[in-house]
Amino acid sequence: MSGINGSNQLDVDLQCPKCGHPVECGIGFRAGAVKGIKYKPGDKISWDGKPTWPSERPIGGNFKTIGYFECENLRCPTWSDCYPEVQEMLVTIEGDVITGYSSVSYKPDKIDFEVFSLEQEV
Ligand SMILES: [Zn+2]
Repeated sequence: MSGINGSNQLDVDLQCPKCGHPVECGIGFRAGAVKGIKYKPGDKISWDGKPTWPSERPIGGNFKTIGYFECENLRCPTWSDCYPEVQEMLVTIEGDVITGYSSVSYKPDKIDFEVFSLEQEV
């Protein structure tokens, strides 16, 4: 357990990798101060406030972290039993700036906002 709640939001021009429907709710992720901040790619994350994710700023502000989104298209193959499957996105942060994001399948059954170094393969 992380011991903290909530996330920030990364607003991106994204289409669901499974059905191509636009994803309008953004990617929920944690980086820097976790307090519902809305970011866009290229933005610098804020470490101003508590709690932060991770609890210590990685050296140089360089890290990667798993974020989450859901597809809103009810006919998407990710929907079953009236709920969408949560999809994962790897968000890259270099020098505290959001420099990239890419769709991954890492731990589809877990939402733990895991953090990696830039060098780690995910
Ligand atoms: Zn979809």
